[in-house]
Amino acid sequence: MIVGLPKEVKKQEYRVALTPAGCEMLAKQGCQVVVQRGAGEGSGFADQEYEAAGAQLAETAQEVWSTAELIVKVKEPLPEEFDYFRPNQILFTYLHLAAAPNLARALMERQVAALAYETIQSPGGGLPLLTPMSEVAGRMSVQEGAKYLEAFQGGRGVLLGGVPGVPPAEVIIIGGGIVGTNAAKMALGLGAEVVVLEKNGDRMRYLDDVFQGRLRTLTSNPYNIANAVRRADLLIGAVLVPGARAPRIVTEEMVRTMKKGAVIVDVAVDQGGSIETIDRATTHENPIYEKHGVIHYAVANMPGAVPRTSTLALTNVTIDYVLQLSAKGFQGAVQHNPMLALGVNAYRGAITHPQVAEAVGASY
Ligand code: NAD
Repeated sequence: MIVGLPKEVKKQEYRVALTPAGCEMLAKQGCQVVVQRGAGEGSGFADQEYEAAGAQLAETAQEVWSTAELIVKVKEPLPEEFDYFRPNQILFTYLHLAAAPNLARALMERQVAALAYETIQSPGGGLPLLTPMSEVAGRMSVQEGAKYLEAFQGGRGVLLGGVPGVPPAEVIIIGGGIVGTNAAKMALGLGAEVVVLEKNGDRMRYLDDVFQGRLRTLTSNPYNIANAVRRADLLIGAVLVPGARAPRIVTEEMVRTMKKGAVIVDVAVDQGGSIETIDRATTHENPIYEKHGVIHYAVANMPGAVPRTSTLALTNVTIDYVLQLSAKGFQGAVQHNPMLALGVNAYRGAITHPQVAEAVGASY
């Protein structure tokens, strides 16, 4: 099979969907891999590394899309890419079709076989192709929070770990899933005092076990949240209710009670934000704004700041599916692997995923 790797076209997207290591695996499996010149540049992979791994370089996106039977990408195709779509071409990428009805229509009209990273699901309900990005964002949330707590960034001038004789900062994390756990790990590593508010008892038991008393867990209810928010130097929003907008659990009144120069990092901003004063997503170019004396960080694509790490983390989990699709073809791979089957969003002119069909108003 011919596998194509176009360069990402979305602004500020520096990740790439295949590394030279992945190309080598595909080449060894007998695939021809066509890589658009410069595709790996943003993640620090040179064209020559792809060539050395057995790939063939193409000068333009058009050349990649028109040759390849399987296109591997990171972000959803943008309108300028829709014209490249061909019937029965396989597309494997993050799609987020619920937020992109135009793309859903284009995939149906052009009869693309489109699989979305974000709907691939393990039997336990986990989303293995989203997990690595949550790990990155969770770890980054503390790094960013620590930076904006510095006085010259507008923060209250507090060092997360304190020093001997000086208390550490208090880091309050709301939501103890993948993002929250990774944030906790980083904050504890820097010596902060960490409290995680959760509403799932089993998750709190897990955190209590793995961190062995190094952090405190608290049941997430308005009373506990109000008290914790008031004390926070760094407040991290990390909740998720699958398939729904993030619940607004921290009210504007609670934010008003926070210390001047405290920092909020709302990782859940990509689902609408879990803090009432997070009224917009920010960008890496302009990541923060101040409200009620508190610094608000609300970047919706945090992993984009560390594309090298993010590309490696993402491709570590996507490559097995790419290998399956290219070895067995669309039908064979989907029949063989039920997790991959859940990734199919569009096929032969129809939206094939029930929630996606409902969201874009297509028949299923
Ligand atoms: P997850 O499902 O692993 O964890 C979410 C946790 O929130 C769960 O443990 C759940 O019990 C808990 N929760 C739900 N409602 C709660 C409430 N009212 N109070 C306290 N806890 C509550 O999800 P995740 O992978 O950790 O992702 C968290 C959020 O981060 C999601 O919105 C995700 O889309 C987002 N995210 C953002 C970025 C970014 O760049 N901004 C990157 C990755 C993930």
